[in-house]
Amino acid sequence: MFGLMQEHPLLISSILRHAARHHRGARLVGVDHHGRIERSSWPELAALAARIAHGLHRLGVRQGDRVATLAWNSLPHLALYYAVSGMGAVLHTVNPRLFRDQIAFILADAADVVLCVDPALLPLLGELSGQLPPSLHHVVVLGEGKTPALPVPAIGLAELVAGESAEYPWPRLDERTASSLCYTSGTTGHPKGVLYSHRSTVLHAMAAVQPDVFALRAVDVVMPVVPMFHVNAWGLPYASPLVGASMVLPGPRLDPASLHALFEGEGVTISAGVPTVWTNLLAWLRADPARRFSRPPRLVVGGTALPTAISTGFWREYGVSILHAWGMTEISPLGATNARKAENADWDEERFLDYSRKQGRPQFGVDLRVLDGSGRPIAEDGIAFGELEVQGHWVASAYFNRPGDPAFTDDGWMRTGDVVTIDPLGCIEIVDRAKDVIKSGGEWISSITLENLALEHPDVALAAVIPVHHPKWDERPLLLVVRKPGTSPSAEEILRIYEGRVAKWWIPDAVEFVDSLPLTATGKLWKAELKKAWAHYRLAG
Ligand code: ADP
Repeated sequence: MFGLMQEHPLLISSILRHAARHHRGARLVGVDHHGRIERSSWPELAALAARIAHGLHRLGVRQGDRVATLAWNSLPHLALYYAVSGMGAVLHTVNPRLFRDQIAFILADAADVVLCVDPALLPLLGELSGQLPPSLHHVVVLGEGKTPALPVPAIGLAELVAGESAEYPWPRLDERTASSLCYTSGTTGHPKGVLYSHRSTVLHAMAAVQPDVFALRAVDVVMPVVPMFHVNAWGLPYASPLVGASMVLPGPRLDPASLHALFEGEGVTISAGVPTVWTNLLAWLRADPARRFSRPPRLVVGGTALPTAISTGFWREYGVSILHAWGMTEISPLGATNARKAENADWDEERFLDYSRKQGRPQFGVDLRVLDGSGRPIAEDGIAFGELEVQGHWVASAYFNRPGDPAFTDDGWMRTGDVVTIDPLGCIEIVDRAKDVIKSGGEWISSITLENLALEHPDVALAAVIPVHHPKWDERPLLLVVRKPGTSPSAEEILRIYEGRVAKWWIPDAVEFVDSLPLTATGKLWKAELKKAWAHYRLAG
């Protein structure tokens, strides 16, 4: 017997319709690349999205077509999120920090038909002009700026929407229709496209607002610092209107002083970003005792491991709490958050702050398992480690244009490539990437654990641990260190930090001092490049 309830497809257009109808008083604030503030509202954004959809239709965009964006977090970018997906086309957000050749590759792989460009990124467009894909027939400039010479016509946003209606008949699509496309940064090999659906996006947004995730309310003022080209700014452009919250879109200026001005001036209550953003903000605050928050915001951090010194510093000195989240492009991105549960509800703040170095537990809608090298579940003791696999309503089932990728198992799970422990509370802790773990004599050594310990040495500014060839053990750890200016610790002094902290056979065989370490487009240590650079390194003896 079936229930007798209504059924409506889960569509992205329904989120904006809700906010525009029921949350007219919420504020939308956008900052452009000149630092000028623009103000709007959900009804105005809905009208802009409708006019953009008409304009794109006029340019020839049809359902299923890919429309790319090269843009910072801005009001026009937000309107495009709803215009493009709402009309049944696919929003392809491109990371401008990727290498030119990678951008050219993903524009061609996605076969984008229109490219929408932030005025601040017009110089980049100029560099790409010779590498635009044959599928592309128009460029739209999201504001004013000098457009470079291009092989296709370029029009401004004002011209695109001029004379268009502020109402659009958003189609009642099948909820499985593709809505947006985001490529992983491709730190190994070519970037791979993850193709989200309306259904996965709406379900992810409904999960994201929950109390143990972003805990979003209509009274919140949400500022995504995480870029809208990085896994849909972690879903905040959907989650915020879903609850009717206000939003602040900071544009390209993400320095601590600019961000702090927005926190204070716009009354931001919650923000999200990678650890470096918050590390820099904390250092800037500490530089002047007059720098405070009049109302401490909540911060969400993810993308790479959260140094507990940051969460502790924010909490003790500024009353700011940080939620640690783990995710991936392939998971839309939310996979786990470290919020308290029954077992640790009564821990004091200091104990929980230390525990928040762990990545957390899944929310309803995502399930996980951790398997050892032979495919057996590992002991949930917080010590044994294995590869994390996930499944759920907003987890990819395949990559775009790339059938048969080994990341997807025959029984419906996705291999994350993250090596984790899972403790008796069900909390995971990433100890490494599967490809970065050091395989010494058949045993695994966590490069991340060794890097974090090295960073505890007062003279170490940056550290990376990579495997180097060893005739007997196959691989052994090599520690690369960037020293803090004005210091000159010896290798022996640095290695002393490991004594009694890790098993003897984990201690790196050698330390090499370097001037800098390469980073990827998303600001993570670029291990693949390091491994290539040090491939011929021979351990003494
Ligand atoms: P990329 O960095 O390749 O662009 P993602 O943004 O999808 O792609 O990165 C996903 C990976 O980032 C995860 O598999 C994990 O290794 C790492 N990651 C994400 N969140 C965290 C976290 N909180 N702690 C440690 N690592 C994280």
